[in-house]
Amino acid sequence: MLSTNENSKALEKDEKYIWHSMKPYNPDGTMVITKAKGSWVTDQDGNRFLDAMSGLWCVNVGYGRTELAEAAYEQLKELAYFPLTQSHLPAIKLGEKLNEWLGDEYVIFFSNSGSEANETAFKIARQYHQQKGDMSRYKFISRYRAYHGNSMGALAATGQAERKYKYEPLAPGFIHVPPPDLYRSNDAPDCPPEELEAVQAIDRTMTWELSETIAGVIMEPIITGGGVLVPPDGYMSAVKEVCEKHGALLIVDEVICGFGRTGEPFGYMNYGVKPDIITMAKGITSAYLPLSATAVKREIYEAFKGSDQYDYFRHVNTFGGSPAACALALKNLEIMEKENLFARSKQLGERLKNDLQNLLQNHPYVGDVRGKGLLIGIELVADKATKTPIDVSIVNKVIASCKQKGVIIGKNGATVAGYNNVLTIAPPLNTEEEDLAYLVQTLKEALNELRD
Ligand code: PMP
Repeated sequence: MLSTNENSKALEKDEKYIWHSMKPYNPDGTMVITKAKGSWVTDQDGNRFLDAMSGLWCVNVGYGRTELAEAAYEQLKELAYFPLTQSHLPAIKLGEKLNEWLGDEYVIFFSNSGSEANETAFKIARQYHQQKGDMSRYKFISRYRAYHGNSMGALAATGQAERKYKYEPLAPGFIHVPPPDLYRSNDAPDCPPEELEAVQAIDRTMTWELSETIAGVIMEPIITGGGVLVPPDGYMSAVKEVCEKHGALLIVDEVICGFGRTGEPFGYMNYGVKPDIITMAKGITSAYLPLSATAVKREIYEAFKGSDQYDYFRHVNTFGGSPAACALALKNLEIMEKENLFARSKQLGERLKNDLQNLLQNHPYVGDVRGKGLLIGIELVADKATKTPIDVSIVNKVIASCKQKGVIIGKNGATVAGYNNVLTIAPPLNTEEEDLAYLVQTLKEALNELRD
């Protein structure tokens, strides 16, 4: 533990030198985290917190796994770096392992972040259509409330106005449609998937924009940062059918949903679809090192193999797929398999959701508790009958109260005005059951304080 003097110095210097992402996210002060083990992190004063957000949806196997540090260390000693214009064994092994999980044949392009993985997907999709002689397909459809990254294309795909308007113009060619929202939708509960309003919106948009101009659709299986919007079971496969009808590719963003978060290796596996392109990051290394990947169906990759050198994908990523990150990712995937973390995420997640639903259903501000696996959202409303979103200051109050009691939870990112009202929970997949019980108890207390 640091001395009091060191603490105040650390914070002073932090204030002076560090530009934090999402600064207002910490209305009650910045934590300087000095160490972590399992699902618990420790700040510079020695205070411990149960990190029920996995360091923002990524430390899936928990903190302090020395075997991950060792895998990276051993690889750094053997071969620290070589670019993937050539090849190296850790990338080859990881490509093979990911294919085992994907259960189909995908060719993998490595990058370093979720944003880059999505940018790569957009470029591949546009060029793929051109390789086939389809020169006019450049538009992408994505959903309001989704987040796909911070770069000019990935942000253009993002459907959260507040994150975007100060940086426009972003990449052109991105069109947004409403996501499915079971809590607020007018669709009948037994609506056939192809008749869901959120599916019809994509179909109609493709027609009105002209199918021949659409390159693809990008979607997370479950919109995570935009409020944990779990779709109706048939939604994703109905969207895939619409894509096929219009000749568009389906790109699935697994940056958060992947690597066991929703109880399956990848989130799309809950919904029986086969995406054309899959992007992944965060959980691929449980965030121990930066790494991301864009997995592309082999037949798409094959279209890039022409006789002209300009047929190749003109895209380089210096650090993408570095040997140490790949070696660490392989060990991370091995841990997930050995510790059966998908089944655990499914089982514990279902129990956690049920416990929260039972405990909170009568709370005047809890409109909905939803999720899949260890990915849960609690939507707070000012009035259950009208479903008016609760003010964000009250959401912040709950988060601050949980933090004071030693539990870190999150809220959905900036979304369309007034919809900043979903508490988010995504603990490491190996969180102890007693810690999940503590999380439930803490949430209950923090929410009950709102009644006083
Ligand atoms: N896609 C999704 C669904 C995300 O949640 C995020 C980040 N939270 C990204 C992409 C971008 O990832 P990164 O921050 O690694 O660029």
